[in-house]
Amino acid sequence: MASILFKSTNGQSPPVNLREALLAGLAPDRGLYFPERFPRLAPEEIAAFARLPYHEIAFRVLSKFTEGVIPNEDLAALCRDAYTFPVPLEKVYDRVHVMRLDQGPTASFKDFAALMMARLMGRFTREDGRQITILTATSGDTGSAVAHAFHKVPGIRVIVLFPFAEVATSQRKLMTVLKDNVRTVAIDGKFDDCQAMVKRAFADPQLKHIPLSSANSINIGRLLPQSVYYFYAASRLAQPGEPIVFSVPSGNFGDMMGAVVARQMGLPIRKLIAPVNENDAFPRFLASGHYEKVVPSRNSLSNAMNVGHPSNLARLVAVYGGQMDETGRIHRLPDLAAMRRDLFSSSVSDERTRIAFQDVWAKYQLLLEPHGAVAWRGFEDWLETESLDGLPAVILETANPAKFPEEIEKTFGWSPDVPPAMAAMIQLPEDYDRMGTDYEAFKAYLLAHHRIS
Ligand SMILES: *Cc1c(COP(=O)(O)O)cnc(C)c1O
Repeated sequence: MASILFKSTNGQSPPVNLREALLAGLAPDRGLYFPERFPRLAPEEIAAFARLPYHEIAFRVLSKFTEGVIPNEDLAALCRDAYTFPVPLEKVYDRVHVMRLDQGPTASFKDFAALMMARLMGRFTREDGRQITILTATSGDTGSAVAHAFHKVPGIRVIVLFPFAEVATSQRKLMTVLKDNVRTVAIDGKFDDCQAMVKRAFADPQLKHIPLSSANSINIGRLLPQSVYYFYAASRLAQPGEPIVFSVPSGNFGDMMGAVVARQMGLPIRKLIAPVNENDAFPRFLASGHYEKVVPSRNSLSNAMNVGHPSNLARLVAVYGGQMDETGRIHRLPDLAAMRRDLFSSSVSDERTRIAFQDVWAKYQLLLEPHGAVAWRGFEDWLETESLDGLPAVILETANPAKFPEEIEKTFGWSPDVPPAMAAMIQLPEDYDRMGTDYEAFKAYLLAHHRIS
């Protein structure tokens, strides 16, 4: 079988293989890379996952995309090396489960993709004898996952910008204790300022000689590994061929796109629920067919999902036959009827998030943090419209409660346990640079620091 090529959602760039798509991040026409066609897994192949460990399922799913780019035995070794931690599925009631994606090194689901992407990028740059600089802006979880995953990867320099006042102390420490090839820069500004500085650097002709790449969720390397845990959950909870329901708390829609990829590859998903916080551009679009970004984005308890215009919507729209450009303009409407059949989305206010999180604790002694609570409430919203019919359902908990302890402390008066790996890391001494929002000063910094010493 020929290797899978990736085309741009804007349709103006030539298709490239996984290596090129991963190293480029964004397509030259500013669109997002997406598979030209989806490889399929036969029902027997999916049924066989029931007896396999996580890293082996990861290998069997990802190898469909890496043909002709990485030898299978090498990919299998990368998967074994990346996925060494458990993926707990906790039963809540009947066949309803919570999947905790918080056991990786930085305690959020973003570890799953970052760990694999770092290994793939490290391999590609080594093969080419290239050096690259990963430049990324973070509101918290992405920065720590990316910094940790790329730490000490030869040939790669990482520069992470974060808004000093908007990042919790433990979140900051997960990035700033790493050092070596990782530089963290605290910006005296907002997340939007960090993102604007990074975007400007990518577009700056005077920085063209620096091989910059992004590790944001626009990179296809961040997306594909996120399809694996949907296969994993189904392999443990569903009978062969039996459809399953997922609820995925959504911000940039990278996580839920992992489920869309899994479905395109053959995993039977009865309903994919993608609840959002008060940044409700997507549920309004699904209901009306009119897309309007939320500007400026609204702050909420689930702060990793404060996204006014989810970047991955362009990919979702493409799967349903439409076209959306990077500004959010729709050039061709997707098949809305099919989207409504497959997907459900509701907006969960902070008030409803708080109630969900208290209810779940009172009823099931199940501890969620705000992102998981949004997923829970979104699932219950869907149950008011359709019946589960005895099928298995999985609500994704995307971070460890210890990363977002404020609501828990406020409500219950105690603090959630900190996972051991995180506890050890946040004891280490920090090292980070600090600057304002002046682009020229940041550019001078980049020019001075992009080389790997
Ligand atoms: C990033 C993040 C999300 C949102 O994921 P998207 O892929 O952006 O939709 C949800 N929960 C947590 C804890 C996150 O860090």
